[in-house]
Amino acid sequence: MKKNLLGYTLQRMTDEFVALGQTKYRAKQVFGWLYQKRVMDFSAMTDVSKDFRAVLERDYSLDLPKIHTRQDASDGTIKLLLEMEDGAKVETVLMPYNYGDVICVSSQVGCNMGCAFCASGLHRKTRNLTSAEMMGELLTMNGILDQWGRRVTHIVVMGTGEPFDNYDNVMDFIRIANEQLGLAIGARHITVSTCGLVDGIRKYGHEGIQINLAISLHAPNDEIRNQIMPISRAYPMDALMDAIKDYESNAGRRVTFEYILLAGLNDSLAQADELADLIHHYGVFAYVNLIPYNEVVEKPFKRSSPSAVKAFADRLMRRGINATVRKEFGGDIDAACGQLRSKVVTGDEGK
Ligand code: SF4
Repeated sequence: MKKNLLGYTLQRMTDEFVALGQTKYRAKQVFGWLYQKRVMDFSAMTDVSKDFRAVLERDYSLDLPKIHTRQDASDGTIKLLLEMEDGAKVETVLMPYNYGDVICVSSQVGCNMGCAFCASGLHRKTRNLTSAEMMGELLTMNGILDQWGRRVTHIVVMGTGEPFDNYDNVMDFIRIANEQLGLAIGARHITVSTCGLVDGIRKYGHEGIQINLAISLHAPNDEIRNQIMPISRAYPMDALMDAIKDYESNAGRRVTFEYILLAGLNDSLAQADELADLIHHYGVFAYVNLIPYNEVVEKPFKRSSPSAVKAFADRLMRRGINATVRKEFGGDIDAACGQLRSKVVTGDEGK
């Protein structure tokens, strides 16, 4: 079985090539060919000796996923359903913000976290994605952006899956993307989003790399969080906030709270006050990113009205909390995260 070199950090590639009798510089050369010159063919790496190129051809691959389905929205959003070597399918989305091209990467095939509002969680996790497969999501999107002379500039690991349930592979993927001799995507342009795995949050604070952390909070208290996020029963608000404080002091970074507004459930002004109280009580230096809900047919939740979203944001701001409403993308395609995959996977299962 060949090993997919796209999942190798520069350090791992160096260690492996040195063990094969090569110099450390050999890994830098190959890394540069792959990510700077974008050459995906060992035989074209002309400054690598012929003998070593033959070893690379024999023992390593540079496999990318296949594009199963592509949806292009009128606002420039591109949603891909990618098929991995074993047939597993995952979604990847490109959102063209005015500050850059942001890719939303999936980290698992399906998800076990069971958030009640989420289309991605409709199908249980079947396996983790490897670092090579996550890099495959990014490189496939770069392949599409090439025609316009654009590249992915920002990464959010917010697609299907819980990144901290696949911690090591996600961190390897991030290190490859961040490597200066490779794609050189700045650490501050990379965000990992967790539903609240506190051990992962604590560990992440010690990574020594300036990547961002987002927490899917979605509720101002345990009572509502328990209703919509099963993880909250394992890690109640108190434990979550403690881990966030720990992260803040170790990483020296602020977190972002993601908060999906669900009509009649968590979007009242009293709940905005409760959220502000919660943040002030724990002394967390957080931004709040309010997310208008994309309705999912299989789910009972409804989108909050634009006036409720605005009122909620205004109340937070008045209470001294830095809050923004997330720009919406892909309104004319399957906008909810996991919706396209769910349609295709459900169709496959029905066969
Ligand atoms: S919101 Fe994220 S963690 Fe929750 S079920 Fe969906 S993909 Fe999993």
